[in-house]
Amino acid sequence: MVHYLDFLKNEIDELKAKSLDWKIRELQGPSMPHARVDGKEVLMLCLNNYLNLSNHPKVKKAAIQAVKSHGAGSGAVPAIAGTMDLHIALQKKIAQFKGTEDALNTQTGFAANAGLIPQLVGEGDLIISDELNHGSIIDGVRLTKAERKVYAHKNMDELKKLLEEAQGKFRRILVITDGVFSMDGDIAPLDKISQLCREFSAISYVDDAHGDGVLGEGRGAIHHFNLEGKWDIEVGTFSKAFGVVGGYVAGSKALKEFAYNKSRTWLLSGSMPPATVAACTASLDVIMTEPKHVQKLWKNTVYWKKHLQKIGFNTGVSETPIVPVMLGDSAIAQKFAARLLEEGVFAIPIFFPMVGQGKARLRTQMNSALKKEDLDVALEKFEKIGKELGAIK
Ligand SMILES: *Cc1c(COP(=O)(O)O)cnc(C)c1O
Repeated sequence: MVHYLDFLKNEIDELKAKSLDWKIRELQGPSMPHARVDGKEVLMLCLNNYLNLSNHPKVKKAAIQAVKSHGAGSGAVPAIAGTMDLHIALQKKIAQFKGTEDALNTQTGFAANAGLIPQLVGEGDLIISDELNHGSIIDGVRLTKAERKVYAHKNMDELKKLLEEAQGKFRRILVITDGVFSMDGDIAPLDKISQLCREFSAISYVDDAHGDGVLGEGRGAIHHFNLEGKWDIEVGTFSKAFGVVGGYVAGSKALKEFAYNKSRTWLLSGSMPPATVAACTASLDVIMTEPKHVQKLWKNTVYWKKHLQKIGFNTGVSETPIVPVMLGDSAIAQKFAARLLEEGVFAIPIFFPMVGQGKARLRTQMNSALKKEDLDVALEKFEKIGKELGAIK
């Protein structure tokens, strides 16, 4: 007998047969370079908290104090009664950090995109998007009735052509891009995108999830390109370099008011709890007052990339602490990751459909809390397994 819920198991079995299912690993303790995963001590090369701020004493202390002073939850959606003095302080801090007129905190980066994009544009408008943009942007775009065009990754000639063709045909045009692309670790040419947007009166929108805490002395991709005051909309997350969870929208005061009056994710979902808000504020403070974390992150990045290349690995087009080790074949990437884990190094294999066919890789991410000795151990393992699998000579 066929049961109406059989599809649950059937569809998962299909994924498993293709090795496309997620095997969830259990992290038994804090997220840091030396961590316990599934009962085993490993060296983590897959962490988004680039600056180890999730374990910074000031950030942890702020979270604990906020629970004592404000409780465990915010008690409401932000527009009704869920905006506390802590949230207002965070908004001010984000604006200060970003050098924008104002800013709004959101529950997550995903919620920022999914809530804001469908309000900015609708029927009669056009969205132009980089082909490698993050899934939360894609989902935000799917919620609109606007027309969509995609340009080849970072291809400014194509973007210009699309903008030229669109002239006079739409009410608004929104150009949207990641600041740093999460699979390759390359940087969007925001300077050129900004110029084109100005030339064609299009709205510039960047999601800087992997640029914050990394580029521009930690202040993100806009700072990196000296575009403060020249860019329309910045969106980001507190779940990566800031080491907590949450999101933001930064720009003009009008943008902030527009976002909180219209974003459905903001209006219909509970606000960040006090501990989270206070930890985010503390995290921004740490980046602004302790430049050593960002400096160490880059020192490690330079060392790691240089030595991987010296051993004979191809690190693709990486320009940031996201360093892919290009392997090509998905079976080799999976085998490589499994062997690394046996040897106590945790790196993630990435393969089709997350990246194109034949572009399988291991994605490694640098962290300010990695020591040179850690990197040397990891390099030794990469070399050994690379030779074992014929990925290098
Ligand atoms: C990780 C990521 C997000 C999601 O952020 P959350 O705050 O974790 O929801 C959004 N956009 C980009 C580009 C990301 O890399």
